Amino acid sequence: MTEVGTKPIGPYERLSAEVHEWDPRTAEVAARVAELVRERRPDLTVEHIGSTAVPGLPGKGIVDLSIETTPDEIPGVVAMLYDLGFGPQPGPDPWPPTRPMPVGSLDVDGTRYRIHLHVQPVGGDFPRDIAFRDALRNDPELRSQYEGLKRGITSGGAVEGLRYTHSKTRWILNVYRRLGFAPPPIAPPATIGILGGGQLGRMLALAARELGYHIAVLDPDEHAPAAGIADSVALATYDDVGAALAMAAECSVITYELEHVGAAVVAALDDRRRPIRPGPYPLKLTADRIAERRFVEANEGRVAEWREVAGPAEVLHAAAELGYPLRLKAIRGGYDGRGQARLDGTDAITQLDGRIGWPALLERELAFEAELSVVAARNVDGVSRTFPVARNVHDRGILVESTVPAGIPRAVEEAAANLAESLATSMGLVGTLTVELFLMPDGALVVNELAPRVHNSGHWTIEGATTSQFEQHLRSICGLPLGSVEMRAPAAAMVNLLGEGAPRPARPTGTYEALLVPDTHVHIYDKATVFERRKMGHVTALGATVEEALTRAREAAGHIGWASAPEASPREPNA
Ligand code: ADP
Ligand code: MG
Repeated sequence: MTEVGTKPIGPYERLSAEVHEWDPRTAEVAARVAELVRERRPDLTVEHIGSTAVPGLPGKGIVDLSIETTPDEIPGVVAMLYDLGFGPQPGPDPWPPTRPMPVGSLDVDGTRYRIHLHVQPVGGDFPRDIAFRDALRNDPELRSQYEGLKRGITSGGAVEGLRYTHSKTRWILNVYRRLGFAPPPIAPPATIGILGGGQLGRMLALAARELGYHIAVLDPDEHAPAAGIADSVALATYDDVGAALAMAAECSVITYELEHVGAAVVAALDDRRRPIRPGPYPLKLTADRIAERRFVEANEGRVAEWREVAGPAEVLHAAAELGYPLRLKAIRGGYDGRGQARLDGTDAITQLDGRIGWPALLERELAFEAELSVVAARNVDGVSRTFPVARNVHDRGILVESTVPAGIPRAVEEAAANLAESLATSMGLVGTLTVELFLMPDGALVVNELAPRVHNSGHWTIEGATTSQFEQHLRSICGLPLGSVEMRAPAAAMVNLLGEGAPRPARPTGTYEALLVPDTHVHIYDKATVFERRKMGHVTALGATVEEALTRAREAAGHIGWASAPEASPREPNA
């Protein structure tokens, strides 16, 4: 085959991953690319790495090559590679410009070989990749284990490329560890940066303090719930790149407590030197309800039948196919039931009044048996652990109560855990992933929403599990071993404390009476202002049965109210 044009390197095509026998001609591909690079840059060395560099080892067949250079040189090296015909890496989760991977292809004897050319900054993973290759070359036992792993992943047919890559993490990290290339843990008193300072950030910060970490928070509100716990607060919006970079400079790892962080902030923070975890890709995916649904479907999860709709006319058209009732959801930015509308007939569409922007997601409203959720954690080594499934009750989109155990068959409990762990792996997530589920009358699980973070339905773990979801998240993002997910009591119940009435300074009443209820724990988020349906705190109770725990939690929560403005705070009459 001859190339069109003058460039020696041809275009790249992104395909699903399948395992092929080792092909000796891949060595020739590597040698030719090395020669092309040498002609232009004699100072650079191209190493052949990855499975095609290990004679006899089956794999995807992509020729992985690696160049190590100084960070300053990287843009120049990439320009030279593009000049040869290489192009930018496609796919949803490309390497950042600080550690790029141009891609291309080369034809040898009528076969097109795809090429990944990793450009690594000095001090990065280059020596590790060489050591891994050499260990495989020298150890037949290691080689056959690796082959077995790859064949296992693709035994049901071709899999999505990222899923293939991340499914190998656990085994590969183990080998790296043996070779002396384990990523070191981020140990206390390192500073952890949290994007968002709401109640989730507050409880993360409390758990981090317990372990001896320092905390930096970025939030636009100086009275944010996490502000009183953090060592420092950067007062800035979630799309302020400068403020995020300034905060990150002090941090060893960055995490987030909400999905609505600006894409530009994430891109700026993502230099692969200081990790952002659970990861830029999980964030990108879950901030977009359409991308999220496509991802779930591509990974064998079920979702309610849906359509992307550009305006009222398309809603009407799709409704004719899907049938009422329907849910119309904003693609970005919705939470606690905001940003969505229930459509029970054609009339409802004319009454939307611009509440939901276009395009939007339209889906069938499901007549579920119960709402469930499951919080999984996946650590740096690719090891996952999942908390027991919670059964959740919502009121107009806001979580009201969670109870554990969920009272579902063991097979459903296991299916939920497997689904969460599999989705976490497919997105290469490091940290916690919450999966909101609908349990259907036939026992099937339908995914409603994914959150790459700790979750309201996991608050019960603070007292109800051996390790809280907050500590588990920190353990994962800091490269520490995961904790036990065993329950500390036969049952746990969590009831949210929602605000009521007009906006006014927040003064809880009835805490004394609430704490008279046995085995009950009250959490108040220290929000400056209370208003109708605002999440102000929660109560967790443990018990011998779900009924007992729930009765206790409801009783305690029933005691707590919010003082009305004038009596509450005579010194702040204007608030
Ligand atoms: P949010 O981001 O606000 O949590 P969700 O999509 O999770 O948005 O919707 C909130 C709640 O609305 C769900 O927990 C569920 O009770 C209800 N809901 C949402 N979508 C559906 C649906 N397709 N069928 C039935 N109930 C739904
Ligand atoms: Mg939800």
